[in-house]
Amino acid sequence: MGTELVLLGTAGAPMPVAGRGGISSALVVGGRVFVVDCGRGCPSAFAAAGLDFTRLDAVFLTHLHADHVGDLPGLLLYPWGARVGGEGPLPPIRVYGPSRPVALPAGDAVFSRQTTICPDLPAPGTADLVGHILAGYAYHLNVMPVDCYMPDAGALVRAADIAVPARAEGGGQVPVVVAEDSEVRVSAVAVTHGRAVPALAYRFDTADGSVVFSGDTSVNEDLIALARGADILVHQVADLGYLGRHGTDEAELARMAALHTDVTEVWGVAERAGVGELILSHYLPADPDAVTEAEWAGRAGHGFSGRTTAGHDGLRRTLPGRNAHA
Ligand SMILES: [Zn+2]
Repeated sequence: MGTELVLLGTAGAPMPVAGRGGISSALVVGGRVFVVDCGRGCPSAFAAAGLDFTRLDAVFLTHLHADHVGDLPGLLLYPWGARVGGEGPLPPIRVYGPSRPVALPAGDAVFSRQTTICPDLPAPGTADLVGHILAGYAYHLNVMPVDCYMPDAGALVRAADIAVPARAEGGGQVPVVVAEDSEVRVSAVAVTHGRAVPALAYRFDTADGSVVFSGDTSVNEDLIALARGADILVHQVADLGYLGRHGTDEAELARMAALHTDVTEVWGVAERAGVGELILSHYLPADPDAVTEAEWAGRAGHGFSGRTTAGHDGLRRTLPGRNAHA
């Protein structure tokens, strides 16, 4: 059945904009659907792309900022009623993502928090998040089944925290194999997204080819190593110069440079990784009218010898397949 990439949403940052959904991507492998991040509108974009909710297999979260996880409750709960096969509930949707950080990051003189929300667990990890979603929606999960036929709520989802990869003696990270079966292997490294620790990038290897998702990161050697030789690198992109010209002050720009890869830098990541195609996503600024697709692709890809594509919501790519690699 092949492997197909579908961009479900390509906006950066939490603020909703017209014309782009929040960050989310899908990789369909042999009919099974794997979702990377669940930003604003992910369930609607999933339906609009014609993807099958009964084939949603697993969700991979790059980090726990709201623009990457905000519509995870909907992705789990809206299609719950359909998650039944001939012999009862479908296997649980697996959700993988970062663990709790070792410590809540501190602020400094430039930026600091005022109130610490939920001081007993101020930085919950992925398993905590999913547990809290189920707890928060317990009314729906416990009441709906007594009015409608619903599959067992206890079989809806299983969450797992990903251990941060160890470093090899030379210094580079050894990617963690997050999930593996006969059709797909998913591996991850930690990337650098300011104080959002851990933040992860993922690589999917299939018989049809390989796709890497950067998550949010500044230029990162471990991501470059993870992406080496991949067919497609889906990479976030920021135009810090644009933001500086439109009111973002020096202190915030300096902070953002530690959070993101700039449009002037991303070609170097793709070139050094030797990927076939660089697909831009998670744009900052997110507004599609701010910077045109032609401008994004032209500036981001100017030094890259492969193909550069400005991603947009609904973009699809079929991987080359076995014959292309033979
Ligand atoms: Zn982000």
